[in-house]
Amino acid sequence: MVRENEIRQNEVRVIPPEPTDAGLVFIGIISTPWTSRMETPRQGRHDGPVCRIEIYEPWVSALKGAEVFERLEILYWLHQSRRDLVLQSPASNGKVHGTFSLRSPVRPNPIGTSIVKLEGIEGNVLLVRGLDCLDGTPLLDVKPDRSLFNPIAPPQKGDFDTDANLLP
Ligand code: SAM
Repeated sequence: MVRENEIRQNEVRVIPPEPTDAGLVFIGIISTPWTSRMETPRQGRHDGPVCRIEIYEPWVSALKGAEVFERLEILYWLHQSRRDLVLQSPASNGKVHGTFSLRSPVRPNPIGTSIVKLEGIEGNVLLVRGLDCLDGTPLLDVKPDRSLFNPIAPPQKGDFDTDANLLP
């Protein structure tokens, strides 16, 4: 079940420390059909509706080359989430799970990630399917899907480290 901001039976909240300023900047904004958490998909789907990701200046030229990837990884800030629960009851049935065993939007740093299908790029706007966030969600980052990406820089030593070759 989806929540607005209420706490459920057996859930545990903590008093979080004051946020440190990690220097995050919102690099764009996401437009989706969903204006209520009660209707937003729990996880996006690649046959879901096309959503628009608008990239702000001065970051637009950072899209160069993104068009070759069939899928992108999108990171976004789930700005309406509470951030203070360590035990959560997703089914609202009194059974609780640790926040780090869930993909719930309620987490100390409410970062959402989705692998989306890239449908097109129109100037500073990415058209994608596969999102699960509210209309107006701030954008943190865009990366190629790691399964499609081969590092462009030459390999380095650590790339070849395994337990086997590091054992004394
Ligand atoms: N796919 C992402 C992930 O796994 O990191 C997010 C998954 S999270 C379960 C998706 C849910 O977060 C939505 O169903 C909605 O209830 C909630 N949500 C979406 N956008 C939000 C926002 N901007 N602020 C707070 N909650 C949001």
